[in-house]
Amino acid sequence: MSSRQDKEKAVNVQVLLRCRPFNDDELRSNAPQVVTCNDYQREVAVTQIIAGKQIDRVFTFDKVFGPTARQKDLYDQAIIPIVNEVLEGFNCTIFAYGQTGTGKTYTMEGECRKAKSRPKGQLPADAGVIPRAVKQIFDTLERQNTEYSVKVTFLELYNEEITDLLAPEEISKVALEERQKKPLPLMEDGKGGVLVRGLEEEIVTNSSEIFSLLERGSAKRRTAETLLNKQSSRSHSLFSITIHIKEATPEGEELIKCGKLNLVDLAGSENISRSGAREGRAREAGEINKSLLTLGRVITALVEHLGHVPYRDSKLTRLLRDSLGGRTKTCIIATVSPSVHCLDETLSTLDYAHRAK
Ligand code: ADP
Ligand code: MG
Repeated sequence: MSSRQDKEKAVNVQVLLRCRPFNDDELRSNAPQVVTCNDYQREVAVTQIIAGKQIDRVFTFDKVFGPTARQKDLYDQAIIPIVNEVLEGFNCTIFAYGQTGTGKTYTMEGECRKAKSRPKGQLPADAGVIPRAVKQIFDTLERQNTEYSVKVTFLELYNEEITDLLAPEEISKVALEERQKKPLPLMEDGKGGVLVRGLEEEIVTNSSEIFSLLERGSAKRRTAETLLNKQSSRSHSLFSITIHIKEATPEGEELIKCGKLNLVDLAGSENISRSGAREGRAREAGEINKSLLTLGRVITALVEHLGHVPYRDSKLTRLLRDSLGGRTKTCIIATVSPSVHCLDETLSTLDYAHRAK
């Protein structure tokens, strides 16, 4: 076995690259294409003109999804095995990482608003990883004829502060400001994980309920943004699905299998590369950097088998501690635009994602 395969086996960090299609603005302005994907070779080439010379840089990933790849392609080829692990009782995490506007939310959530008019049990073509994962989970559990429960939480991390996106309370400026003064605290649960005190846990009983939950969370996120002048590109969101499955051992004993899937829509990666400090937003930029940068360090430490993994250095990595490293699977979906206008950010996304391998 090559050392590369060795590494993959031991670490279980998979890095995928997705390049979205040109959007209307880019098409109208005739923006040159600088990213070329070769899905079969798992390669991405970025073309730059430096001192009049054309230079191509080529990056290899575990999988590459070019602009014509559909939501279903990405899910079927990359995510199904991860969700199977969760159903076997392991914790796994999927991240979307990339510049704002490159398709992180599209990849994770997809277009959910159209979904509610669908016949029950059918997914719209635009559905992203979250609704597809929930459907896979219920399809599997319903087939197995065992007792189970599925719970979800949905939170936002902004400035290292946690907001519950499923909390039932009314959204007003006063309520939100009150909550900002008292962000939900993180506590160790004594089993290697952490608890967010007061976080709403929603029990889900079938896969179509997920669309209204996502919609509720997104609406809350949008309202909070407007009322509190937040910038959505600066927040991380974490959608977690916890499954408990009751099983009988051959000896007739009862066993509860518990698996958790974390789906993380990270803050725009431009928050790392172009430090907000320059714009006089030092604290906010610093705090956002903290979770994104610490995540990078944690993944590097895991991939390179360093003794110390700095989970404790940010809220995001504390929240995900029981789902990164060890017997877990991690998948990073790096998203980029094909256009020349995004060239610098695209290169830094590719560098960051490549380092995680
Ligand atoms: P981000 O969350 O990274 O800021 P979005 O997911 O909001 O970016 O995507 C920006 C826009 O591009 C949205 O209108 C989205 O629907 C569209 N988009 C992103 N990726 C794709 C894709 N692969 N195919 C079609 N449209 C996409
Ligand atoms: Mg987004």
